[in-house]
Amino acid sequence: MVLMREVVPVRRNADELAKMRRAGRVVAEMHEVTRAAAKPGVTTLDIDRAARGVLERRGAKSNFLNYHGFPAVICTSPNNVIVHGIPGDYLLKEGDILSIDCGAIVEGYHGDAAFTMAIGEVSAEAEKLIRVTDESLWAGIAAMVEGNRLHDIGLAVQTVAEGAGYTVVREYVGHGIGTKMHEEPAVPNYWPGTPGPKLKAGMVFAVEPMVNLGSAATKVLDDQWSVVTADGKLSAHAEHTIAVTEDGPEVFTVAD
Ligand code: MG
Ligand code: MG
Repeated sequence: MVLMREVVPVRRNADELAKMRRAGRVVAEMHEVTRAAAKPGVTTLDIDRAARGVLERRGAKSNFLNYHGFPAVICTSPNNVIVHGIPGDYLLKEGDILSIDCGAIVEGYHGDAAFTMAIGEVSAEAEKLIRVTDESLWAGIAAMVEGNRLHDIGLAVQTVAEGAGYTVVREYVGHGIGTKMHEEPAVPNYWPGTPGPKLKAGMVFAVEPMVNLGSAATKVLDDQWSVVTADGKLSAHAEHTIAVTEDGPEVFTVAD
C-alpha cells in the first residue's frame, strides 16, 4: 500500500489474533506448495493454480483475487519485477529469481506473506540479494517489541539492506492488517523521519521489504499491476504477518 499518515494502530483481542493465526497458517501452506511447484519449465499461472488448491482445501477465501480487479490468488514477480506481477504464461527458467506473494482470509481475518526463491541455480549475486532481503525482514520483525516505535521496524530493515549495498523501495510499503488486507498504518521499509506510534501488544503488521540490487526507483508496466525496477536490475521481496505480543513478536505466516 502507498498511504502514509500518522495513526494509532488497532489492537486485536485474543479471539481476533487466533483467527489471524489460522489465516497465517493457510498462507504458510500456500508458500510450501508454491515453492515446491516453482521450477524451470513451469508457468507462473501453474503456480497460481497450486495456490488455489490450498485455499479450496482449507476453506479459506482469497484476498488477492478481484482486489481492485486483480485476476489471481497470488502475485508472481520474476527478476526485475518488484511486486504485483500477474500469474500468466511466463515460463520459469533456470537462473530466474521469483517472488511469490500469497494471502488468505479465514473467518474474516487476513494473512499476507511473500518470499523470493531461486529457480534452479542462480548467480551468487542473486542468491545474496535473496538472503539479505530475508535478513532485513527478520531484523524488522525483531524490532516489533512493546516500547519500540513503529518506524524502528523500517530503520532495522533499511540498516540491513543498505548495509549490504542495496536499496529499499520507497513507493510501496508494509501495512496494518486485520479485517482488511491493507489497513493503516503504513509500515515503510526505511526511517521516514519520525518515530511513529509506540508498539503495543495486539498490533498486527505485514512487514514487507522490497530490496533492489540497483537504484530504488520503480515504474509500473502497461498491465497496470507489475511494479518493476526502473533500471531493469533484480529485486527481491519478503513478507510476513506478525503480531506484537507481551512476549515479543509472533509470526503468524509460518507453519506450526
Ligand atoms: Mg503480500
Ligand atoms: Mg502486504
